[in-house]
Amino acid sequence: MAETKYIFVTGGVVSSLGKGIISSSLGKLLQARGYNITIQKFDPYINIDPGTLNPYEHGECYVTVDGMETDLDLGHYERFTGIQTTKANSMTTGRIYKSVIDKERRGDYLGKTIQVVPHITDEIKRNIKLLGQKFHYDFVITEIGGTIGDIESAPFIEAIRQLKWELGKRAINMHLTYVPFLKAAGELKTKPTQHSVKELQSIGIQPDILVLRTEKHLGDGIRKKVAAFCNVDFDCVVQSEDLPSIYEVPVNMQNQGLDAAVLRKCNEPIEPAPQLGPWKAFLERREKATKTVNIGLVGKYDLQDAYKSIRESLSQAGTYNDHKTVISFINSEKLTEENVAEKLAGLDGIVICPGFGQRGIAGKIIAAHHTRTHDIPTFGICLGMQMMVIEFARNVLGYADANSREMDEKTPHNVIDIMEEQKNITNMGGTMRLGAYECLLRQGSRAFDIYRKEHIQERHRHRYEFNNNFEKEYERNGMKCVGRNPESELVEIVEIPSLKWYIGTQFHPEYQSTVLNPHPLFLDFVKTAIEQHKNK
Ligand code: GLN
Repeated sequence: MAETKYIFVTGGVVSSLGKGIISSSLGKLLQARGYNITIQKFDPYINIDPGTLNPYEHGECYVTVDGMETDLDLGHYERFTGIQTTKANSMTTGRIYKSVIDKERRGDYLGKTIQVVPHITDEIKRNIKLLGQKFHYDFVITEIGGTIGDIESAPFIEAIRQLKWELGKRAINMHLTYVPFLKAAGELKTKPTQHSVKELQSIGIQPDILVLRTEKHLGDGIRKKVAAFCNVDFDCVVQSEDLPSIYEVPVNMQNQGLDAAVLRKCNEPIEPAPQLGPWKAFLERREKATKTVNIGLVGKYDLQDAYKSIRESLSQAGTYNDHKTVISFINSEKLTEENVAEKLAGLDGIVICPGFGQRGIAGKIIAAHHTRTHDIPTFGICLGMQMMVIEFARNVLGYADANSREMDEKTPHNVIDIMEEQKNITNMGGTMRLGAYECLLRQGSRAFDIYRKEHIQERHRHRYEFNNNFEKEYERNGMKCVGRNPESELVEIVEIPSLKWYIGTQFHPEYQSTVLNPHPLFLDFVKTAIEQHKNK
């Protein structure tokens, strides 16, 4: 393709319509047709990145290979398409303003008054086009966070209006809306969609494609009505019904011709629809897997989105082990020594989740103790790994006051310590050890067996780290430090080889598990949990 084409994905009526899933699905379908694509997210909030946001506000914080803390939608982009996103795939109002203000201080605009239009909108446009220009993608899909009509998204929408005008057929808008079903009336209602499209039109954007989110199937009559009221071609009105799994969405979109409609709107030739072989094989395997494996997530955020990538990684691993992963959340704040056996009963494997701060860590330590002493497969991730290490120090090495410096600044048994380079850092935003780092695995270890190689790369997000001064004691007593950063010597993986599966990783493997490339650690963990289930 000669020039990059731009697809802008906006949402109306309500939030949480699944713009991220639709963007990922469209990306997947275009990719299957041989196009080189990328997907980026522009979020209208003022934070520079979501790194300082509470998961209750924003769900999980996803980390890219190059160390950007981003929106969880980037996780969907990677899981669906297998592309690796970077810092440039994620933008916020905060970063746009910061860049404009920095330029103003440098004198780049000398003599001028800096305004939302054109300076902020120009900066948004420049950033939207950045990836396409640099890597010559065929398609760049840009998802705009929030809902049409929000005050804060106005400059982004204005930038899209301008780009659509400037780029002509090279830019289209795909708008997602909601079609509610009113039970009392027994009817599906299109008026909110009509209003949302009017709102877009009043800003000067004519949507090219409409995706109608619905809990009930929409007949052709409704699609025709929407098409007529909104000036959109009939074949460009598709529906996104609730499906048993988000991974079915690409196939559903292909069956309705979403990708073909996009190509037609962009003046691209339309070849017959591709087979999606491996993807469909994954779905078939998933459907056939009826036996269940029960995994418990021990964490403090009782919210689906808080551990999104971990949940998806476990679910993918279930499919590849021909099982359905059933995930239960166990609130670590409510775990006590008295109730731990009861709360973890019936679970075949336990994940001790990542996190920050004091709240809920006592429960994580209790869980780690219970699963270690009862040989229940356990996977500790980041803070979860640190809690495994602390539990081992307290109950095996005999240091009752062992702790992380994050929780107790004064303990002499700081088995988890602040990293050297973190000691003088005062700013909280974007200053952790972030992104992909190399790790060297010890031959003969369980981790080495699982990865089947010595050199791996995994993504990180932390300030604290295993204290190497205690390493010998751990090793002597059965907890092995089997993964290590070759430059800094930081311990990245611990395991207890005498147990069925007791592995903690300082990194976050969940960021790298995709539908077609599931992560080996999750695959092996779930496999062991299934064996545990059978042995019960
Ligand atoms: N709070 C811990 C640290 O900063 C763990 C972070 C995490 O779980 N992502 O090291």
